Amino acid sequence: MGDSAITGSVVYYNLSSGAYEAVPNAMVSVTIRNSYDNSVSGGFSVAADASGSFSMPCAGELQDYYGTVSLTSALGYLSVGPNGSTSFVYPQFSCNFAANFYMDSPSARVFVNGSIAIANSQAFFQRGRSMVPVSYTAGTTTAYYLADNDHIYIFSTSVWDAYGVFTIAHEYGHAFQEKALGGITAPGNCPSPHYLDGYYNQACALTEGFADYHAIVTRDTAATFANQIKNYSSSFLFHVNADGSTQEGAVAAFLYDLTDPAGDESFDAVQYPGSYLADLMHYCTVTTPLGPRRALGVDHLVYCLEQTVAPSVSNVYFLTRTPLLKASAENHAGLSPPGWNQGAIRTLWLMALYGQTSLAIPATCAASCGGGGLTLTTSLGGPGPVRPNQLCTWSVVASGGTAPYSYRWLVNGTDQANNDALLTMKSASSFTVQAVVTDAPGSSSAVQKQVAVSSSAPSCFQ
Ligand SMILES: [Zn+2]
Repeated sequence: MGDSAITGSVVYYNLSSGAYEAVPNAMVSVTIRNSYDNSVSGGFSVAADASGSFSMPCAGELQDYYGTVSLTSALGYLSVGPNGSTSFVYPQFSCNFAANFYMDSPSARVFVNGSIAIANSQAFFQRGRSMVPVSYTAGTTTAYYLADNDHIYIFSTSVWDAYGVFTIAHEYGHAFQEKALGGITAPGNCPSPHYLDGYYNQACALTEGFADYHAIVTRDTAATFANQIKNYSSSFLFHVNADGSTQEGAVAAFLYDLTDPAGDESFDAVQYPGSYLADLMHYCTVTTPLGPRRALGVDHLVYCLEQTVAPSVSNVYFLTRTPLLKASAENHAGLSPPGWNQGAIRTLWLMALYGQTSLAIPATCAASCGGGGLTLTTSLGGPGPVRPNQLCTWSVVASGGTAPYSYRWLVNGTDQANNDALLTMKSASSFTVQAVVTDAPGSSSAVQKQVAVSSSAPSCFQ
C-alpha cells in the first residue's frame, strides 16, 4: 500500500454551503518527469469518480509528478474554465502522498451544478447534445448563451445559491434548445437582462420561457423562481393585462403544466412525457404567409398541440403575432402524447397564457390585444341590461390598421355569421356578446360585453 498508487480527490470550496465539497467526474491528468533531468517519462489520465476521488498507478522511485485537472466532464456534458481556460495546473507532488486538487471555486460550482442539470435534462427529455463550453469570468454581467459560438458565459453574480442553480440550468436550456431541439427561436434579439413578467414577442418568450422551464424541470426547487413558475398559472398571473404568449413566465408555466402531474391544479388535466415536448418543439411546423416555419413561438406550438388552427382560436387569441407569421395550418409531425385531448390542452393554455377558464374573448384584449395598429372602441356600443326577447343593436367601431375591415360576432361563443359593424338580436336570458374585427392584412382585435336580461330593463327603443 502507500507507494503503489497516486490517489487524491478533486474538491472546491462551496460558498453556498460554507464547506469543501467534491467535484465529481472531472478529468485528472498527471505528467511524470525524471527527477534528475526533468524530462517527461510518462503520464496518466483518469476521470475522478462520482465522489471526486481518483487513483492512478505510481511510476516508481525518483520520479516527479505534475498534476493537471480540467473541469471537463468525463460524461461528455460540459467543460468549464475561468476566462475561457479549462485546465488548472498544480505543482509538483509525489507518489506517496494523497493529492487534493483545490479547484477554482466559482468554476467548480458551475461545473457541479451544470453536470446535475444536464444529467437530469437527458433523463427527462430523452435527448442530449454535444459538450458545451462554459466560460466563467469575475464580474457582474448577466449570464448568457451565445449561439454563434455555442458557448455559455457565466459571471460572479450568477454562480452561487439558488440563483446560480437556476442560471446554469437556464443557460444550458438555451444550449440544449439550440443543438438538440432544432435551434433557439430568437437568436440574439431578446432583451438582457429579462424577467419572468416581461413582455417581448412570441419568439423571445418561447426561447426564454423554455430556458426557465428547463431550469425548473431539471433542478426543481433548488433553483430560484421554481415556485413562481410552478404556481404561475394559478397564483401569479402576471400576464392578465396582455397576451401571455409574449411573456416568458407565462410560457414557462404553460410548458411546465404540460409535463407536470395531472390534477395538481383544477385546469391541468394533462401529464405528457418530456420527450414528447422535446420532439414537438423540434418537429412542429406551421404554415404562414411567409411559407412554412418551425414553431417560432408558443402560439405556433399551441396549434401543433391542439392539432388544428381553428378560426375560433386564431381569430381571438395570439392577436399580437405579426400577421406575416400568423399560422393558418399546423403540422404536428404525427406526434401525439399518450391520451391526447384537445380540450384538455386548450383549457391549459387558456389559463396559462390568458388567465381564463373557457374559450372566450379575453376582456383585457379590448385594451391591449390588438395587433398591427388596429384599435377598437374599448367597449361595445349598445345597451347594457335589456328586456327579454326584445330586439336590440350593438355596435363596434374600428380604426387604424388597414381597411377594409371584416367583422365577426359571437354570442356566448357561438358565431352569428354576421360580417357587419352592427349586431341586432334578442335573447330570453343573459348573454355575452363579442365582436372581433380583422383588418385587410389580418390583424385582429376584440371587445366583449356582458348583457343582463331583465324585465325591468329600459327598452331599447326609448
Ligand atoms: Zn435566457
